[in-house]
Amino acid sequence: MRIFIFSKKNLFFSFLIICIITLILLSSLSLAGEFRSSSNTFSNNFIANINNLVKGKEKVAYLTFDDGPSLVTPKILDILNKENVKASFFVIGKSVEAHPEIVKRAYDEGHYIANHTYSHNNSILYRSSESFSNEIKKTDIAIGKAIGVDAYSSLIFRFPNGFMSPQYKAKKKEMAKLLSQMNYAYIDWNCLNNDSIKKYNSSQLLNNLKKSSKNKNTLVILMHDTKDVSNSSLALEDSIEYLKSEGYSFSNFYSVVNDLK
Ligand SMILES: [Zn+2]
Repeated sequence: MRIFIFSKKNLFFSFLIICIITLILLSSLSLAGEFRSSSNTFSNNFIANINNLVKGKEKVAYLTFDDGPSLVTPKILDILNKENVKASFFVIGKSVEAHPEIVKRAYDEGHYIANHTYSHNNSILYRSSESFSNEIKKTDIAIGKAIGVDAYSSLIFRFPNGFMSPQYKAKKKEMAKLLSQMNYAYIDWNCLNNDSIKKYNSSQLLNNLKKSSKNKNTLVILMHDTKDVSNSSLALEDSIEYLKSEGYSFSNFYSVVNDLK
């Protein structure tokens, strides 16, 4: 009888322990599920907001500078400071390593630091999925080191030559999927001053911008903070004054990132 009672008790406790373990397992699974779905929701909303940016009806100008940092960048930062405009910089990882102090200054002054690959070399970038994700990770690590932020994630990427350009189209489509899995959005532009096409002088650059921005509301403007071809810093002050006179306010990608917080 005693043995029977002991076994019954034992059975009851075993049952209780199994119940508790099952409950713990179930709740941790559902928590993981919630975390995954909230992270996916963040990612999906973020990507949608970035994609919809250029469809905005407000007259907002997002100045974006590609291919830096370089020795032109401080000049651009001085002008942005003077005009009280916050911009976004699509930096190249290897140039970040060469000029970390410039990236730090841009970040400290409130500009958004976005990712434009480590090498800007399409044959390395599209070699494989691994190579593509390495180019992004290495760049974010370089940015993080430069600005003193651990595990920096730039969240926004721009393909060299833009997603819309015909080169490597199939590869870009494939990598766009990988980007969203990595929780990155990518963005092109809907306005430019053509500073990378040939050597334009500052008034030609301004005229290019006037033509390209005509009848558009929200503008994502492509410029470069290098002086390989045209030096956009020479036209920047006049370009900002022109956009202000046309009723544009200025913003950078923090507006999209912070909206989701
Ligand atoms: Zn570029």
